[in-house]
Amino acid sequence: MRIKTLTAVIAVSLSLAFLLLAYVLLQIRLDSQLNPHQSYLLQWAINIVGAAFFVILLIGSYIRRTIVAPVVQLVEHADQVAAGNYAARTDIQARNELAALAVGFNEMSAAIERDIAERKRVEADLLEAKNALEALAHLDGLTGLPNRRRFDDQMEKEWRRTQRAQQPLAVLMMDIDYFKGYNDHYGHGGGDECLKQVAAALAHMPARPGDLVARYGGEEFVAILPATELEGALQAAERLRGQVEKLALPHERSQAAAHVTVSIGCASMTPTLECTPNQLLEAADRMLYQAKTQGRNRVCG
Ligand code: GH3
Ligand code: MG
Ligand code: MG
Repeated sequence: MRIKTLTAVIAVSLSLAFLLLAYVLLQIRLDSQLNPHQSYLLQWAINIVGAAFFVILLIGSYIRRTIVAPVVQLVEHADQVAAGNYAARTDIQARNELAALAVGFNEMSAAIERDIAERKRVEADLLEAKNALEALAHLDGLTGLPNRRRFDDQMEKEWRRTQRAQQPLAVLMMDIDYFKGYNDHYGHGGGDECLKQVAAALAHMPARPGDLVARYGGEEFVAILPATELEGALQAAERLRGQVEKLALPHERSQAAAHVTVSIGCASMTPTLECTPNQLLEAADRMLYQAKTQGRNRVCG
């Protein structure tokens, strides 16, 4: 039985017992023929029972205020903490060990609250760092474009999606012309700067959901264009080729133009269960080779 209920039961039982006793004594006094001495003694008995009743009531009230109520408060505090409310505090007015226990409870709750807040902050920081790392793991360090790994993931995803939707999927393979010569002439640092500028120009492609331009490796870039027929892919490729040409980066060692240019191979197919993403990439690569052999700075598909 809970302390609160037990106290109430004892208080009610005692009150009833005393009331009953007082009633009995009163009846004896009213009903019997007592001599004055007996009447005097009975009068005293009634007075003592009445006084004892009030003294017990006072002691009961004191115990309730200083012991029962604080214990109930502490039990409620413990329940709140168990339920996850670490902001719960207990304020006990009495000056006894239970008040000291309440101070201990409050300090413990405050410590748990601080600990949990700190852990949540660390968790949030870790999550942010994890997201940042994940994002970095999918970006090319030099150009900031999505990297090969990101491209592979996207290709896999779009391949399955377009296969289900029975839509065409286009791929553009792009390669900077005479880039070895560029490096030889302008140095590796100059080559890196050129790669960054070309990447930024290619990233400007107006993208639809699912479109992606990535660095494939070295001076090669690749684009995925879901739901795009070859004709649309050729137009997009021509726009990208023009963007690079517009940069007008001087290229002394190019036999294709006086500035940096790219060759682009395009392929588009509606994925089926019989073919693989590699077949699409190989088809685009063959078109790139054709663009190279036909004189570079052009689009083939
Ligand atoms: P083509 O017109 O046939 O594409 O000729 P190319 O000279 O561009 O082709 P090749 O494959 O012979 O040369 C590619 C060069 O790209 C060689 C390599 O040094 C350079 N390269 C690859 N990655 C990087 C890079 O991250 N930074 C720099 N600066 N150069 C790179
Ligand atoms: Mg190459
Ligand atoms: Mg090249």
